[in-house]
Amino acid sequence: MKKKRENAALGAVQEDVSMLPDSQAASSDATMVSGAKTARAGISAGMSDVEASVGEVRRARRANTSSVGETTGGASIRAAPSVPEVAEILVRRYGPWPDESAGPVIEQLVWFLLSTRTTVENCETAYTALRSAFSNWDEVAEAKEEELYGPLRPAGLYRARAKNLHAALSAIRERFGAVSLEALRAWPDDECESFLLSLPGVGLKVAHCVMSFGLARPVLAVDSHIWRVTRRLGWHNFQGETPSRRGADHLGALMPAGFDVLSLHVNLIRLGREACPSGEPRCGACPLGSICPKIGTEGSDP
Ligand code: SF4
Repeated sequence: MKKKRENAALGAVQEDVSMLPDSQAASSDATMVSGAKTARAGISAGMSDVEASVGEVRRARRANTSSVGETTGGASIRAAPSVPEVAEILVRRYGPWPDESAGPVIEQLVWFLLSTRTTVENCETAYTALRSAFSNWDEVAEAKEEELYGPLRPAGLYRARAKNLHAALSAIRERFGAVSLEALRAWPDDECESFLLSLPGVGLKVAHCVMSFGLARPVLAVDSHIWRVTRRLGWHNFQGETPSRRGADHLGALMPAGFDVLSLHVNLIRLGREACPSGEPRCGACPLGSICPKIGTEGSDP
């Protein structure tokens, strides 16, 4: 429960995930050591797929260096830092995500479904009420949809939540004979993602959060914080406030094999909240200030 609470506190899925298109993260075969090169290559490759909004930045990215700026018209523009070097700095600042079991996968799914478009406190109240009202998840699936209204009311949008949750748990029960997702632990990533995305109310971010937190898969669940911060870092140049499938795929492909993706996910969200919000970034107080190209920001250099 503590971990679930923190998951939501980090804003992992406090948005309308139904807005997200499907996505599948990929990972390279590189080792951690060569992962930096792979990540940088991935960044450059990804950039060729999308329109660059700032020409100078484009040239800086093509320079493909992580710490040396390129002087363009008197302005020093840094290239995108590698995934491992960003991750290392963030772990020093915030620490790694604890390597411990998250408990039953179904609990992760329910939690993340309830955590969309509400506060952490309201999500937790609804989750606790749901657990108190029913002795197990099969009971929830067997209950009438209306019986879920009361427990889910604190989270808001309770009718829609009840409908999606009831339908999702029923679909799981039909598929596995019980409301359990433990079978997914033996499934390959792509099949896990496909099945989760087939469930009512489950979008890309919820699916990836379940895979990441619940199944310990190296999948980067991309929320709006990560989407914004990674764009400023130069890891992608996809536009818009909402992560796209292509964008999530691109970011997922930057993760080196064997990489601690979950810690990076959590720490990027922490950074997004602490130093790099959607408004004016506080680069002077940011641990990435010396290596971040600060793309799309103005006058934020420390
Ligand atoms: S706060 Fe500034 S330095 Fe830090 S990630 Fe955001 S744009 Fe980069």
